[in-house]
Amino acid sequence: MVSRVIPVDPFDLVIFGGTGDLARRKILPGLYRRFCAGQMPEDAAIIGAARSEMDDAGYRQMVADAIREFGGVPPGEDDQIARFLERIGYETVDATGTGGWAQLKGRMREGCVRAFYFSVGPSLFGAIAERLHSNGLATADSRIVVEKPFGHDLASARALNRTLAQHFDESQIYRIDHYLGKETVQNLMAVRFANVLFEPLWNAQYVDHIQITVAETVGVGGRGGYYDKSGAMRDMVQNHLMQLFCLIAMEPPAKFEPDSVRDEKLKVIRALEPVDPHHIVRGQYAATNGDPDYRDDVEDPRSTTESFIALKCHISNWRWAGTPFYLRTGKKLRARASEIAVVFKDAPHSIFGAEAGRHRNVLVIRLQPNEGMTLDVTIKEPGPGGMRLVDVPLDMSFADALGPDAQDVTDAYERLIMDVIRGNQTLFMRGDEVEAAWAWTDPLIEGWTARGDVPKPYDPGSAGPEDALMLMHRDGRRWREIRT
Ligand code: NAD
Repeated sequence: MVSRVIPVDPFDLVIFGGTGDLARRKILPGLYRRFCAGQMPEDAAIIGAARSEMDDAGYRQMVADAIREFGGVPPGEDDQIARFLERIGYETVDATGTGGWAQLKGRMREGCVRAFYFSVGPSLFGAIAERLHSNGLATADSRIVVEKPFGHDLASARALNRTLAQHFDESQIYRIDHYLGKETVQNLMAVRFANVLFEPLWNAQYVDHIQITVAETVGVGGRGGYYDKSGAMRDMVQNHLMQLFCLIAMEPPAKFEPDSVRDEKLKVIRALEPVDPHHIVRGQYAATNGDPDYRDDVEDPRSTTESFIALKCHISNWRWAGTPFYLRTGKKLRARASEIAVVFKDAPHSIFGAEAGRHRNVLVIRLQPNEGMTLDVTIKEPGPGGMRLVDVPLDMSFADALGPDAQDVTDAYERLIMDVIRGNQTLFMRGDEVEAAWAWTDPLIEGWTARGDVPKPYDPGSAGPEDALMLMHRDGRRWREIRT
C-alpha cells in the first residue's frame, strides 16, 4: 500500500505559548513529522510567540532540542531538522499587554492560511483573541485553535464561548480534543458507517452494554495544583470520554462533514439521562512503596477531588433505551490502556447446551497503546473432546492486510493541526457540544459536593476502588481487564 500524503496549502501558524510544555512535547515534534512526511509546503511558516525574551536563533535551538527529545527522531536527521528550522521564527509577545504585537503582525504574510494556536492557559484566551483583532492580525478566514480545558463548568464555558464569539465566527474556532485525532477513533467511524455488518446490530436489541476505559499509570505528578481543582470528571470525562461516547452512540450522520457529525454528537449528549448517584464511584489513589498518596501529591490533606471515576449512564432514545454505558478513568491504575468495548448480547438460544458456557461477541476499539480493533468471535476449540467453545479475537489491526504503511505513526496532534490548515472542523468540538457536556456534568458534580461524598481510596496498580467493580457485578457484568 502506498501512503498518500496530500500537502496542505501554504500557511502561517503562530503558536502562542510556543515555549511551553505542550508546544515542546506535542505540537512542534508533530509539525516536524508532517514536514518529514512531505505534507508541509515549502512556504509554511511557524512562529512561536510567548513571554520569554528570545530571538529566532534561540527559539530554533529550543525547537531542535524538543524535536530530538520528544519527536522519536532517529540519528542522522540533522539536515532534515535544519531544513525544518528554516521555517521557524519567534516573537516575544505579551498576551495581556501591548508588547510584540506589531512585530508579530510584521511577520504575517498575505494570501496564505493563517492559524493561531492558543497553547496557553485558558485565562489568556480572551486577551489573545481580542488583541488578534485590535492589532489587525485576524483576517476573515483566520483560524484559532483552543486547548483544553474549555471551561470549568457550564457558566465558564459559556463565558469563554461568548468571549471568543466577539472576535471569531464559530467556523474559525477549533476546540481541540486530541482523542478525536487518534487513528482508531476515526476508524471507529469507518467501521460503523462504511460496513453493512455492524450498524444493524448497533443498538439496544443486540448490544448488552458498552464499556469505555481510559486508564493511566501515572499520578498527578507536577500538575497537582491544577488537577485538584478539576478531578477526573472535569479533566477526562467531560471531554475525552464524552467524545468517544458520542462517536460510539451517535446516529449515522448524513455526511462526514463537520456540522453533520457534530449535530449527531450533540443529540447524544442531550439525550443523556441524569446519573443516579448510586451509579457513580469516585476514588483517590492511596500511598504505596514510599510513593505519596493523592492528597500528598496535591498538598491538601483534606482534598475530596477524585483521581478515579466510574459511572453507569443511559441514553434516552430509541436506539439505546435500556443499554447501559459504563465509563471509567483514573490515575495510577494497573496499566496505561484506553479502549472502548462493545459487548454484544448472548445468542438467543444455545444449541450447544449449558456446558458450552456463556460466550459473547465483543468488539474492542483500542486507542492506546497499540491502536487497533479486535472482534471476539466464538468458535469450536480445536481437537477432540466434544463441542467445546472458545472466544478468539479476530484481529482487525489491519497491519497484515495493508502492509507496513498501516502502522501509521501520525500522532493525534499533528493530524488535527493539518485539519486546521485544511479548514476541516469535523474532528473538533463545537461550542454547543462543549456546553451540553458541561450541562450534563455540572449536576453530577454539584450532587456529590452537596452530599459531601468522599472518594474511596484505591491501591495504586489496581483497577480502582472495589465499589467500581461492584458497579458492574451488581448488574451481572464485568469490567474488562486493564492491560497493555
Ligand atoms: P506551560 O505553562 O508549559 O506553557 C505556557 C506558555 O504560555 C509558555 O510558553 C509561556 O511563555 C506562555 N505564556 C504564559 N503567559 C503568557 C503571557 N502573558 N503572554 C504570552 N505568553 C504567555 O503550559 P502547557 O503545559 O504548555 O499548556 C498550555 C495549554 O495547553 C494549557 O491550556 C493546558 O491546559 C493545555 N494542555 C496542555 C497539555 C500538556 O500536555 N502540557 C495537554 C493538554 C492541554
